[in-house]
Amino acid sequence: MRVPLFCMFLIMGILPMALQGLVMGRSFRRTQIDGRVIEVQNQSLITSDRLTRAEYMAAPGRDALLNKELDTIADIFNGRIVIVDQNFRIIKDTFKLSDGRINVSEPVLRCFKGENSILREDEKQYFAVTAPIYDNTEDRRIIGVLLTIASTENILSNVDSVEETSRFYVVVASMVLVLTGVLLSVLLVKPFDNLQLSLDRMAEGSLEEKISENTYRETHKISDAIQKTMAKLQTMDRSREEFVANVSHELKTPITSIRVLADSLMSMEDAPVELYREFMSDISDEIDRESKIVDDLLALVKMDKSVAELNVSQVDINALVQQILKRLQPIAEKRSVELIYESIRDVTADVDETKLSLAISNLVENAIKYNVDGGWVRVTLDADHKYFYVKVADSGIGIPEELQENVFERFYRVDKARSRETGGTGLGLAITKNVVLMHYGAIRLMSKEGEGSTFTMRIPLTYIY
Ligand code: ADP
Repeated sequence: MRVPLFCMFLIMGILPMALQGLVMGRSFRRTQIDGRVIEVQNQSLITSDRLTRAEYMAAPGRDALLNKELDTIADIFNGRIVIVDQNFRIIKDTFKLSDGRINVSEPVLRCFKGENSILREDEKQYFAVTAPIYDNTEDRRIIGVLLTIASTENILSNVDSVEETSRFYVVVASMVLVLTGVLLSVLLVKPFDNLQLSLDRMAEGSLEEKISENTYRETHKISDAIQKTMAKLQTMDRSREEFVANVSHELKTPITSIRVLADSLMSMEDAPVELYREFMSDISDEIDRESKIVDDLLALVKMDKSVAELNVSQVDINALVQQILKRLQPIAEKRSVELIYESIRDVTADVDETKLSLAISNLVENAIKYNVDGGWVRVTLDADHKYFYVKVADSGIGIPEELQENVFERFYRVDKARSRETGGTGLGLAITKNVVLMHYGAIRLMSKEGEGSTFTMRIPLTYIY
C-alpha cells in the first residue's frame, strides 16, 4: 500500500507542477517577444514620422543629430536601422555595412506598396519591422522605408534566467513533495502496520493479544472482526481443552475401578470363588462401560468431520422408529415402562439411516433410563410439507429448567450417580444434537422437574446438499 500511495502522491503533486511550469514558460517567452515587437513597431512609426518631418530623404547626411538619434535607437533595441530610398538604395545603415547597396527584400517591397509587415525569425533570434517615410507634402508619397532589425537575444536570455529560477523552485518543491510523500505514506499506513504486528504476534501463539487499532474506521472494523474471531477461537480452544480433560477423566474412571477391584482381589489370600466371580463380573461391567465411552467418542468424532460423511438415502421413518422401539422394548419392560408409539402420518425422508437411528435411540433410551418405575414413554411421528417431527415424551424425573441448556453438552449429566448407574456416558444427547444439525434440523427440549421431559426433533424431509 505504501508504494502505490507514494506514487499517487507524486503524480498528483509533481505532474501538475511540471506541466504548469512547461506551459507557463512557453507563453512567457512568447509574450515577452510580442511585447518587444510592439515596442519596436511603435518606435519605428515615431521615428519614420520624424524622418518625414525633417525631410531626411532629401539630404540624409545633413541632420547629424537625427543620425545620432537613429544610432541610439538602434543601440537601445540591440539592433540595426536601415533606411532605403525609392530606388531601393540603402542611404543609411547604423551598422555602416551596406551603405549604397540595394535592398529589395520582401518587407521593403511591401512597405513601398503601403503594407506594413513584421518579419519574425524566432529561431535566429531577431525580427524586422518596417515603417514608411513620406515626402513632406499634401499627397504623402512613400519615398523611403525605415527598416528596424531588432535582436531578441537579450529577451530570451532574460526569459531563460527566469525559467531557470522557476526550475529551481520546481526542484525544491518536488523534493519537499517527495519527502512529504514518503512521510505521509509511512504515517498513513502505520495503523495497518500495527495491525499486522499484532497479527504476527497472534500467529506466534499469543492468542490473548488484544487488537484495537482505531485510527481509521476501516482498521477499527478489522480489529473488531479479528477480536471476535479470536474470542471464538479462544472459546473453541478452551472447550477443546475441557473436552480432552473430560475424556481423560471419563476414561480413567472405569480403569480406576478395575484397578481397585483387581488390587483388592490380589491382596486377599484365599478369597472364595464367589467373591472372585463377583469382582470379575464388576470388572467386566467396567470394561463394557469403557468400551461404550470409546464407541460414543468415536461416533462423535466421526460426526465432527465433514458433512460429506452423511450417507443419505430415502428412509421409511415409521419403520425406523418402530424398529428402534422393538429393540428397546426389553429394557423398558425391565423397568416396567410402557412404550407407546403414535404415528400421525407415514413419513419417508432423505436421511442417514444409521445416524438418525442412533439419535432417536438415544432419546428413547434416556426416556426409559430417567423414568420412574411403571412410567410411560410416548414416541410421536408427524410431518408437514417441509419437515418431519419425532417427539419423545416421558413421565420421568424431568430436568430442572436452568440445566436444560447444558444437557446437550458433551459429558454433561444432571445426576452423575444416576447416569453412571444406568451406564450413561454423558455423550448421548451430544451425539443426537450433532446428528440433527448434520441434517440441518433442530432439537428442542421441554421439561419440568418431577413431571417428565419432551424432546422434539425437526428434520427436513429432503436433504439439501
Ligand atoms: P447419559 O449417557 O448420561 O444419559 P446424555 O447425553 O444422553 O448422557 O444425557 C445427558 C444428561 O441429561 C443425562 O445424564 C441426564 O441427566 C439428562 N437427561 C437426558 N435425557 C433425560 C430425560 N429424558 N429425562 C431426564 N433427564 C434426562
